[in-house]
Amino acid sequence: MTEGTSQTAAAAAPLGIAKAATHSASTQCFKGNAKAALGDRDLQNALKFVEVNFIARRQEVADRLPEFEALRDAARDIKDHTLAYLDLYLEAYERRMTEQGGNVHYAVTAEDARNIILDICRKLGARAVTKGKSMVAEEIGLNDFLDANGIAAVETDLGEYIIQLRHEMPSHIIAPAVHLTKAQIEGDFRRAHSDLPRERNLEEPTSLLAEARSVLREKFLAADVGITGANFLVAETGSSVIVTNEGNGDLTATLPRAHIVLASIEKVVPTLEDLAQLLRVLARSATGQEMSVYTTLTTGPRRAGDLDGPAEYHVVLLDNGRSAMLGGEFRDMLRCIRCGACMNHCPVYHAVGGHAYGWVYPGPMGAVLTPALIGIDQARDLPNASTFCGRCEEVCPVRIPLPKMMRSWREREFERHLSPAAARWGLAFWAFFAKRARLYRLATAVAARLMALAARGRGRFRHLPLASGWTRHRDFAAPQGATFQSQWQARRGAARGNADPPGEQGARP
Ligand code: SF4
Repeated sequence: MTEGTSQTAAAAAPLGIAKAATHSASTQCFKGNAKAALGDRDLQNALKFVEVNFIARRQEVADRLPEFEALRDAARDIKDHTLAYLDLYLEAYERRMTEQGGNVHYAVTAEDARNIILDICRKLGARAVTKGKSMVAEEIGLNDFLDANGIAAVETDLGEYIIQLRHEMPSHIIAPAVHLTKAQIEGDFRRAHSDLPRERNLEEPTSLLAEARSVLREKFLAADVGITGANFLVAETGSSVIVTNEGNGDLTATLPRAHIVLASIEKVVPTLEDLAQLLRVLARSATGQEMSVYTTLTTGPRRAGDLDGPAEYHVVLLDNGRSAMLGGEFRDMLRCIRCGACMNHCPVYHAVGGHAYGWVYPGPMGAVLTPALIGIDQARDLPNASTFCGRCEEVCPVRIPLPKMMRSWREREFERHLSPAAARWGLAFWAFFAKRARLYRLATAVAARLMALAARGRGRFRHLPLASGWTRHRDFAAPQGATFQSQWQARRGAARGNADPPGEQGARP
């Protein structure tokens, strides 16, 4: 970063990089995005990190803690209890926070939240803002909004800083730049940091880190306002909690004149004891650590006698569609603690990465949450971006039934005629037979026989009408032998025969 540039320009200037080509910024283009992602060699190389590292690390720490499964049950119960009494716990949080000298603002919509934050910044005459990582800030498009209003916001989490340089969205909720290779990041730094000497070695991750730190240090010291998200809000004490591995959240919260916490309403938990239980499953599920490096509780502004801390402390509580989820079938999604384990274990995410999902929340949690927040008509492909292997639910620390909820979204998509006509007709055709068991058995037996004959002993098809989407990329196996149903019946008959005492075979209904 050029020294001596004005604060606003300096913070906004990292940029100087043409808007990077993300696969798309639209949730409606999942298929096109996914196709582009599959052909992106850099992305495919970068994504191996997720599959190889996150899964093994989580398994290792989970295996080391005998009570891990019991902790997951407790975490689910804490979140369920809080959601059942959310209004009461939000009021309790507000009361405690206000007693500590902070201000609580409720924002019904994303626009409300943006305006509240702008208002606070304007009253303080703020020109430069530092930000700790916050998915809710991404959700409401805060950086662009502040920028359009003459306030430069700089991300201070390393991954977020990198994607801000590239004008991209995070591709993962805990590892925002996981889609990038080291060489790509070095290229971004060389383009954006105009005073970076050419001979400076940036090949090691530590040297990239040192370079980012030297730029961000200036930003921390110059910021008027610090904005962080919150992993949790504690009703008992009025505290907001951030969990990081870099310590950037602490500097963002304590150095500027004002600290704004931006959090969605479901982040509240009743007590510090509950917080401790949730923290034990969060880091293990997210990064495979027993605890994150920094877990910081902030409770209001600086008090008399404190050596540091902000003079003003504001908490903006965002609803943005969440209270509407409370009474419905997607309520369990509000248990989410944003650990990222579901995407770390998702074969679709491994193949296409986070940008293919087109918005802030990728992977299985995004496939459920995004339609709830922006509408299924805007995100109809996302619930279909799943093989229903069930791994997301298996690893979710708060046991959210993600596949079940994706299925519910698919049903709504079908009911509203949002799916393509060919898919709807195909399903209707199948349903006609599926509702008539005998006819279904007969039709599948005849079809299997005809297909076996048509394959002429090769056992596979290179081309198959109505299945060209499949045969364009791979052969289609021809049915071999009896259908599943007839094999199942034969096996069940054999099992009954073995279990029945002599002379009673076939006597059961
Ligand atoms: S849905 Fe579960 S696994 Fe996925 S991010 Fe949320 S808490 Fe983690």
